Amino acid sequence: MATENNTTEEQVISAPNFVRNIVAEDVKNNKNGGKVVTRFPPEPNGYLHIGHAKSICLNFGLPAESANGKCHLRFDDTNPEKEDVEYSRAIEEDVKWLGFDWAEDLYHASDYFDQLYQYAVALIKKGKAYVCHLSPDEAREYRGTLKEPGKNSPYRDRSIEENMQLFESMKNGELAEGECVLRAKIDMSSPNINMRDPIIYRIRKVHHHRTGDDWCIYPMYDFTHCLSDSIEGITHSVCTLEFEDHRPLYDWVLDELETPCHPQQIEFARLNLDYTIMSKRKLLELVENGYVNGWDDPRMPTISGMRRRGFTPESIRTFCERIGVTKKDSVIETGVLENCIREDLDKKAPRVMAVLDPIKVVIENYPDGQEEMLTAKNHPNDETLGTREIPFCKEIYIERGDFAEEPPKKFFRMKPGGEVRLRYAYIVKCESVVHDEQGNVIEIRCSYDQETRGGKTPDGRKIKGTIHWVSAKHAVDAEVRLYDRLFNVPNPDAGEGDYKGNLNPESLEIRVNCKVEPSLAQIDAEQRYQFERIGYFCHDAKDSDEGVLVFNRVATLRDSWAKLSR
Ligand code: ATP
Ligand code: MG
Repeated sequence: MATENNTTEEQVISAPNFVRNIVAEDVKNNKNGGKVVTRFPPEPNGYLHIGHAKSICLNFGLPAESANGKCHLRFDDTNPEKEDVEYSRAIEEDVKWLGFDWAEDLYHASDYFDQLYQYAVALIKKGKAYVCHLSPDEAREYRGTLKEPGKNSPYRDRSIEENMQLFESMKNGELAEGECVLRAKIDMSSPNINMRDPIIYRIRKVHHHRTGDDWCIYPMYDFTHCLSDSIEGITHSVCTLEFEDHRPLYDWVLDELETPCHPQQIEFARLNLDYTIMSKRKLLELVENGYVNGWDDPRMPTISGMRRRGFTPESIRTFCERIGVTKKDSVIETGVLENCIREDLDKKAPRVMAVLDPIKVVIENYPDGQEEMLTAKNHPNDETLGTREIPFCKEIYIERGDFAEEPPKKFFRMKPGGEVRLRYAYIVKCESVVHDEQGNVIEIRCSYDQETRGGKTPDGRKIKGTIHWVSAKHAVDAEVRLYDRLFNVPNPDAGEGDYKGNLNPESLEIRVNCKVEPSLAQIDAEQRYQFERIGYFCHDAKDSDEGVLVFNRVATLRDSWAKLSR
């Protein structure tokens, strides 16, 4: 992946989608009777990630644009060793959460094992498949290289009867794992290695999570996929570019066999994001070795991680629309994704006040024991989100960073002798500071101006700074988790050494002593907010309980990496 192919924020304005154009043209010409049937075919061997989201949005999006369309969810479960029902369940949940519905059309490649076996038998009967006893090492040698053609296997000319018998023995478990395979008889001198008599069935004496011990032979991906597409009546089989070289095999299998239809395979460039990895094998490694806290760790590029982080389904769909669909490999900046969630939450998220690094402020001239309610807007522009009442009293917390004992120039927040506005409340003036024995500021003492209720200045005096606060007496304790990128280099997979050496040691910072306004005491699971002046945060439904309130930072208010990475 060349860096000059990086896609930056500015380039992502209106994105092309060549697959959409092909499908629209087909519908116009009444190809396939005007029908559009696609499928999303995950292998249930891991959780879905943002790359899969691109494929999901494309596959579910295409039929949604036509009058006569649907998208199937099909589990490509032909690899029994690595698959698990936990993954299938998570995949279904993630697709639904993204906003897509396969209705009745949920399938499994394993549903077709009987049919696929019959198709393999049909190939043998046509003289187009044979059982091969070459060892894996010998098979590699016979395969040839990119420059040199392969050689015919000595088993290639076995009689149809012999092949039928041997394949039956394979199926009946009479032969050992690895002893032989079933291969398609195509062309060992083809420039395309995929066409050099590819394996279509192998012996695997393992339990399958759906078919149990019914089978001890399993079909290979290239044989299974095209036939599953045809059995389901798929019209457009959309996949990623690495399958381009497999297309001749896809077409060969369907041309040789009498199948219900011949879907069109169309390849597009997969999504690559900087500062992250998307290999399921590596993501599994991060989970299994405790580099992250599970598949749904909010730093993971998984759908479940992003959901827990606080991404909305809308923001992910917007992202997938903006990056477009082409045949050119590129790397998208993570900032593009983050801006999609910022935009969405800027519109939707209610504003609240929270202090992540609290320091106490005592308002000396405010009457002891007095409390009052002040009115705050829930959103600066969207009136429909309404207002709320927030309590104010003699002691409040502000952000430690909003006070400077020795302020630099143009510091308009709280400083000795200076006035500052408390958002929605009063103008206060810092009168004195209390230190501990080491000289650290432990309390700030202020006076307030009664005439400035609601932050107004009836005398017209200008107050440049406004800071947020929460009432000390009413504040709710919270734990806030601040996330940064999981890797600290744009391409964690590049260069020497292991990608794990590029993990960002500062990707998680936990603040346990935060104070949030009391309106957050009653909160819905996964509710998202803007903490004023700080960023966007999402309630962590998994780790919060009666005693602790946990928030995840979805995104900062602005992109702090944009300048660094360019
Ligand atoms: P594996 O390495 O296990 O094959 P995979 O990411 O291809 O991993 P699948 O479960 O086979 O996993 O993926 C399901 C579908 O999602 C496939 O059609 C695949 O092409 C598509 N897909 C996977 N990764 C991306 C990506 N980064 N961008 C776009 N589509 C992707
Ligand atoms: Mg795959």
